[in-house]
Amino acid sequence: MRAKTVAIVGAGVVGLCTALEAQRKGYKVTLVDKGAPGLGASFGNAGYLATELIDPLSTPKTLRSALPMWANPYGPLSLPLAYIPRIIPWLMRFIRAARPAAVESGRSALQQLNQAAVPAWKRCLADIQAGEQLVHSGYLLVWESPEKLEEARQHAAYLSQWGVRSELVDGERLAQLEPELAENISHALFFPEACRVRDPYQLCGILFSAFQARGGTFVQQAVDALLPDTKGITLQTSTARLAFDYAVVCAGAWSKSLLESVGLHIPLEAERGYQLTFNAPHVTLNHPIGSAERRFVMTPLDSSLRVVGITELGGLKLKPFKRRFAALYHHCRKLLGGLNDPFVQVSEWMGHRPTLPDSLPVIDRHPRHPQLLFAFGNQHLGLTQAAVSAELVVSRLTGKNPTAIDAAPFSVDRF
Ligand SMILES: Cc1cc2nc3c(=O)[nH]c(=O)nc-3n(C[C@H](O)[C@H](O)[C@H](O)COP(=O)(O)OP(=O)(O)OC[C@H]3O[C@@H](n4cnc5c(N)ncnc54)[C@H](O)[C@@H]3O)c2cc1C
Repeated sequence: MRAKTVAIVGAGVVGLCTALEAQRKGYKVTLVDKGAPGLGASFGNAGYLATELIDPLSTPKTLRSALPMWANPYGPLSLPLAYIPRIIPWLMRFIRAARPAAVESGRSALQQLNQAAVPAWKRCLADIQAGEQLVHSGYLLVWESPEKLEEARQHAAYLSQWGVRSELVDGERLAQLEPELAENISHALFFPEACRVRDPYQLCGILFSAFQARGGTFVQQAVDALLPDTKGITLQTSTARLAFDYAVVCAGAWSKSLLESVGLHIPLEAERGYQLTFNAPHVTLNHPIGSAERRFVMTPLDSSLRVVGITELGGLKLKPFKRRFAALYHHCRKLLGGLNDPFVQVSEWMGHRPTLPDSLPVIDRHPRHPQLLFAFGNQHLGLTQAAVSAELVVSRLTGKNPTAIDAAPFSVDRF
């Protein structure tokens, strides 16, 4: 019998994991991307598997702090004036998502994905003999203000209810864990079970090589429209029509217009995140470090030190703003004195996180065209959740869900 064909639209980390998972289930898979694999948001993320981030982005606390964060030139939130009229409908939905009942159901949906995230990555990487790409690093969330000791304690107690283990550390113990951190760090939460990857772009390359070695085909073309019919689905590109039995849209922040071509209107936004990558061998970190007050993250990668942060609601078209990189330089140099060296080499990058107002991804089938499926919208957690999202969407394709995850919160028609 002929193997069924599947097209995966988008070769970011979610599409790459989905392509490999579909191959494991016996499908003949074609990956289609407008660019080379792994050059979207998956290229430059922090490489940290942030399984402790179980709260949706929209909560009463976030809304209360939004205005001061936006007003602060070094703050983590940016809303370019030119984009405000475009973002208002999304912001209204985002504000509604802060209702207590919505936060509670969002948290439980995120928690079930995050809890399954690392085991899914282990299965994916073991299957392609790349288990060493996952590093059991631990993670430190740090505070500079001693008066925020109680805040850290409460945060640890809150997370422990959800099975996330952390330990309050300071003084000698903190200095032993991370000797390079500035002395003005007062205390931290240490998450001993946390993991990172060696390098997110390198990981995409390894996933892609395994996909090709297993007979996968790659087509570098932009998909303009999805055309379902009685036999399957056709991808319309500027030069070709490519026919398949099934297709899965994994186009990250660009998925919205593709869904419009099949009658689905979803409030997907591009949440722009900024990144600096330092080639600074003299500055060594043992763990990814997050700053609870400055709201940014620094991660040691195999060959560099990466600093990421900023949530900029600015869509897909605006160029990056220089002042956002300046904010990241400002923050990381306060925590790591070694980065003040004027001769250290550094590159700057901005990427688009795919974010829905309720902070949940879409992992589902089209309600009227079952040959079309979706896996996108993993916001700040797309690397974390890539392997588990792939397992879940392919289980929708095969009709067999071996995971205990309830897919209902991730439906495409929930808006
Ligand atoms: C600065 C920053 C730091 C981050 N840090 C972390 C982190 O530490 N941990 C974590 O879990 N997450 C992190 N994230 C989020 C994470 O990077 C994203 O959620 C994730 O990469 C999304 O993956 P994706 O495959 O869905 O999308 P992408 O990687 O953006 O891939 C989408 C692909 O679709 C292709 N495409 C789009 N439209 C079309 C079309 N019409 N036709 C063909 N191809 C198309 C694009 O070219 C692209 O290759 C971070 C994000 C940013 C920006």
